[in-house]
Amino acid sequence: MKVSSAGSSSSAPVAHNAVPPPPTAAATRSSRIAPHSHIKGLGLNPEGFAIPDSAGFVGQSSAREACGVVVDLVKSRKFSGRALLLVGPPGTGKTALALAIAQELGAKVPFCPMVGSEVYSTEVKKTEVLAEAFRRAIGLRIKETKEVYEGEVTELTPTESENPLSGYGKTVSHVVVGLKTVRGTKQLRLDPSIYEAILKEKIQVGDVIYVEANTGAVKRVGRSDAYASSYDLESETYVPLPKGDVHKRKELVQDVTLGDLDAANARPQGGQDIMSVMGSLVKSGRTEITEKLRREVNRVVKGYVDQGVAEVVPGVVFIDEVHMLDIECFTYLNSLLESQMAPTVIFATNRGKALVRGTTDIYSPHGIPLDMLDRCLIVRTEPYNKEAISKVLQLRANIEGLKLGDGVLDRLATRGADSSLRYALQLLTPASILASIAGRKEIQLEDIDEMGELFLDSKTSSSIIRQHQGGEA
Ligand code: ATP
Repeated sequence: MKVSSAGSSSSAPVAHNAVPPPPTAAATRSSRIAPHSHIKGLGLNPEGFAIPDSAGFVGQSSAREACGVVVDLVKSRKFSGRALLLVGPPGTGKTALALAIAQELGAKVPFCPMVGSEVYSTEVKKTEVLAEAFRRAIGLRIKETKEVYEGEVTELTPTESENPLSGYGKTVSHVVVGLKTVRGTKQLRLDPSIYEAILKEKIQVGDVIYVEANTGAVKRVGRSDAYASSYDLESETYVPLPKGDVHKRKELVQDVTLGDLDAANARPQGGQDIMSVMGSLVKSGRTEITEKLRREVNRVVKGYVDQGVAEVVPGVVFIDEVHMLDIECFTYLNSLLESQMAPTVIFATNRGKALVRGTTDIYSPHGIPLDMLDRCLIVRTEPYNKEAISKVLQLRANIEGLKLGDGVLDRLATRGADSSLRYALQLLTPASILASIAGRKEIQLEDIDEMGELFLDSKTSSSIIRQHQGGEA
């Protein structure tokens, strides 16, 4: 079986699409991550204590420290079969904490957020949605062997020609690079874009560089009086290479998830080979991913792992509003948690004691059956005061490039403290649109007030309904 890949090699941690990932679903996932783009980690010191206002995190010290302990447990493989449950009011950073955990676990660790209610669909079984989310949270780092030219630069000649577009001036049409290798000197004729890289890296005659044969990418390795190093595929280490050579080097080419591989291989038209660089993502609609196909993908992946071509990177699956899952989902989750390649599982809820969905009489804390609750480490998030809200608002304004006029931050923070952080954050963008319509670069108090009248917070909205009901009665 040919295992083809589909996914994206973006920066870490990556939000991975639910399977199948039509473009709209992909957009939904990334829009779920976008409001947290200021979060860069848990912001803990080496002893595991929360540094005030660090890594984009404001306050929430105990929760961050507890999450730090979970990160340590996961790293030392002592968290398998367990889950983290974040409990707290809406907008108290539960999603942000889950994302920060993924970031702390390492670069390009997949982060797959979902909401409990997503399992309810007329087309897909609930357990299938969960299985897919788990597969999206298991990354696969694929390495590729590339041919590179490595050697000492003996010649660097940019060839200039008339610029055909402007009709005047000269542009570099190609660059001739002479490389001294153990087999003699080799002349490479490279693309003009390489010239920029050469200038940027300040490459000169006498430097040792490597040039990728297929892409023409250039890298400065050192001076010829030092030695160039070469990746030895057998020992998997860099070994000295006194004069350079044409040789093979193992490189990271892409990060995919098992979910990407399932989806790509389920498509009737097939896909690219696992080793080829991923291009466009899945464009077609849902096609069936069977257990058999998953087993087959696992088998091929294991083969690649055994050969040292690929490495498994367990990520984080985050299920918000976990109380929306029913007893069948929890039973299935129990078995997923036990699986060998399970990602780190984080649940979140803002419910207290609630009926376990799918039952008529089982009430339990957070609507989670006791056997699942038993597997959870529970961490509480605290509501924010005005000062903390103000700091988060300022962080978001900075990251979105929004300028706040006199008194705006204070007014927004007051509104946030009266209603919620989320409400205050939600007023920011429409207020900025209003300001730009009025030809202003800065959000003013009037923009906030107008938006506050147009968009109600939940407390105001429910009190209006209560008044109406009172009037009708
Ligand atoms: P819900 O229960 O409604 O899903 P939540 O608890 O998951 O809410 P988040 O979505 O994480 O809350 O937080 C709302 C917004 O506030 C996000 O943009 C988040 O990044 C930001 N935020 C929340 N807490 C903090 C914090 N302590 N420091 C910095 N940003 C925060």
